Amino acid sequence: MKIHEFQAKMLFHERGIPVQKGVHVTTVKQALDAWNNLGTNVVAVKSQIHAGGRGKGTLYSPSNGDLVLEGGVHIAKSAEEVEYYSQKIFGNKLVTIQTGPEGKIVNNIYIESGCNIAHEYYLAVLIDREEQALLVMASTEGGMDIEEVAEKTPDKIDKIWYKFGEDVSSKAIKLGESLGLEGNALNEFESSVTKIVDMFWEEDCEMIEINPMVRTNDNSIVMLDAKVSFDNNAGFRRKGLISELRDKSEEIPTEIKASEAGLSYVKLDGDIGCLVNGAGLAMATMDV
Ligand code: ADP
Ligand code: MG
Repeated sequence: MKIHEFQAKMLFHERGIPVQKGVHVTTVKQALDAWNNLGTNVVAVKSQIHAGGRGKGTLYSPSNGDLVLEGGVHIAKSAEEVEYYSQKIFGNKLVTIQTGPEGKIVNNIYIESGCNIAHEYYLAVLIDREEQALLVMASTEGGMDIEEVAEKTPDKIDKIWYKFGEDVSSKAIKLGESLGLEGNALNEFESSVTKIVDMFWEEDCEMIEINPMVRTNDNSIVMLDAKVSFDNNAGFRRKGLISELRDKSEEIPTEIKASEAGLSYVKLDGDIGCLVNGAGLAMATMDV
């Protein structure tokens, strides 16, 4: 299960993982109220969809397919700019490298305080099944497509592994040092990684990806993007807040229907889908 950036940041905030102040809005009027209430002179107007690459995406009109706006994330420095961007974003279709050509309609925007960025980093936690451990990856090449970094300059990605219950702190400091962090930023990085790893174990996460995590001009760390997904196999024991964060409008209707019937179903391009039990059979079916 995926959640929106603003929801992931709410979970981060609750755990003391540093994020900017922000307000989730669903109308232009609310976006303007958010601008007034945040009281900063710069905000980011951020389209919320369950896919990355929003900044470099393009918004199209869902009715006639006309191009409406380049970019799904914008910096606004006045009420007029907040109004302009939110008007252009709401109800339109955002196509990014991760949505496929059909894109996703944007019904939610996050108005977030502007951040003074000194450097953008990449940080992610995922499961390494072979090592039976959590893998924490970090890179100084944040803000861009990490697959591209992995392909062209793999030495720019640092990795550490944690087994369940292992002390996080000392390895996190080494990882932070390998990114060139010092002083306050290094301390904040260490405490953030510790809290993110705790969150990963405690909430049955599948992936936590922060691209970019930034160092600010005053040497603080801020998670400026947040992509969090949860393991559906643990869904039965997820009762509290997180189970309520599911946004079914972001999911594929036929997949929702299948999951309600207890079936494993993956929608593919066109009018084909894969309905099978067992990962091996699923892969063999895909190959065929
Ligand atoms: P995506 O990865 O979907 O494009 P991000 O949240 O990473 O979306 O935003 C894209 C870029 O916009 C970031 O790399 C960062 O440079 C900039 N950005 C995002 N949020 C803010 C913010 N609150 N203040 C300043 N710049 C921001
Ligand atoms: Mg990003």
